[in-house]
Amino acid sequence: MFTDSHCHLNFPDFQGQIPQIRAAMAEAQVDRALCICTTLEEFADVHALATGHDNFWATVGVHPDTEGLREPTLDDLLERAALPRVVGIGETGLDYYRLNGRSVADMEWQRERYRVHIRAARQTGLPLVIHTRSASDDTLAILREEGGFGAGETAVQGVFHCFTETEAVARAALDLGFYISFSGILTFRNAADLREVAGFVPLDRILIETDSPYLAPVPYRGKTNTPAYVPWVAKQIAELKGLTLEAVAEATTTNFLRLFPRVSLMNGA
Ligand SMILES: [Zn+2]
Ligand SMILES: [Zn+2]
Repeated sequence: MFTDSHCHLNFPDFQGQIPQIRAAMAEAQVDRALCICTTLEEFADVHALATGHDNFWATVGVHPDTEGLREPTLDDLLERAALPRVVGIGETGLDYYRLNGRSVADMEWQRERYRVHIRAARQTGLPLVIHTRSASDDTLAILREEGGFGAGETAVQGVFHCFTETEAVARAALDLGFYISFSGILTFRNAADLREVAGFVPLDRILIETDSPYLAPVPYRGKTNTPAYVPWVAKQIAELKGLTLEAVAEATTTNFLRLFPRVSLMNGA
């Protein structure tokens, strides 16, 4: 019924816990989860989750916050994107939240890395999983430059994950054909502005996610998050839009399968 479009089940928090997590998912009717890669070094572990479980899928990418590890080339991404059960590119994007004393101008390496991911998405036709924090203008500008939005080109598709930006940013992302994914933040007491944004985003462009192990939704806020909690995000959206939980579950899963067509194509592969 539900799909968790973004989680990090290879993280140390979940060592040895996968059978319990899967049992909790089944109990909560969470039918599938997309395991998101943040470094080339962890890709093998992320990929193994997807090849070892018929309802887990994987992406390949290097998170903008990743420093001091292997810098991905276009070929690094293309090679891994060609493997079975790899269905998207990311997470990628820009994060100027933790500059650690540097200026935005100093973050050219992050922008260059993001460009490489967009090129990989264009070449493979796979959707992009975009992370943006304190950097929405540059995130959108580079996407417009690299994304193939010109006449006669095939544009990239993708999702702005764990969305916490304004309605204007949501509108710009929607105008580019992108989806918006909401996390447990949507249920936080101090997130009234974000709930307003979620009210504005059309249901046929919304995904839901946990970003496990982070950001557990209310009533589990502060605990380790797992895909089994994603229905709480759907419940919040249902309340905001005056819909049933079932309608939100069905729409967000349909949206996920539309954006990540390889999930259907490779089902069981
Ligand atoms: Zn992220
Ligand atoms: Zn993430």
